Amino acid sequence: MQELAALIRAVPDFPTPGVLFRDVAPLLADAAAFARCIDALAEPWRASGVQAICGIEARGFIFGAALAQELHAGFVPLRKPNKLPPPVVAVDYQLEYGSDRLEAQNEALKPGERVLLVDDVLATGGTLAAAASLVDRLHAELIGASVVIELVAARGRTRWQGSKPLHSLLRY
Ligand code: IMP
Repeated sequence: MQELAALIRAVPDFPTPGVLFRDVAPLLADAAAFARCIDALAEPWRASGVQAICGIEARGFIFGAALAQELHAGFVPLRKPNKLPPPVVAVDYQLEYGSDRLEAQNEALKPGERVLLVDDVLATGGTLAAAASLVDRLHAELIGASVVIELVAARGRTRWQGSKPLHSLLRY
């Protein structure tokens, strides 16, 4: 995991002053590291019977789609507002300043389908909690979530539903 951590760039004051942004671009650009990362993300889920991976826009698409291939699962994008053609279901959630919305197509998941959520970074946990609500609204079965990076100080794990596993590869 240390080789992966070495490829995460810390960018001070981005996107706003005072924020230390963790940039996964160098990891994605390194073929061996990207492959190792997907393998490590897949590891806890190999015997899970996962049927669909929901990736969160935008970097969750990159990790999620690669992971879907690795786990022989389908891929479903959870998108920012007004990107998907209707009909959609939507969940609003709070950001540190303001609010945002995630959407999925109405029939993107089948009732009872076993779903894994994927994103690049867990911070306050609002995004992942909204994604879990969307899965719920579509009557699919959430089996857990995986992120590449967990920003521990933002305490996102406390907003996650306790009974489902939440895996992170790197913790800061
Ligand atoms: P949360 O809702 O506060 O947990 O924020 C998680 C969302 O914000 C994820 O979709 C991330 O892509 C994005 N995010 C938050 N912090 C970072 C960061 O340091 N680097 C990259 N993405 C971030």
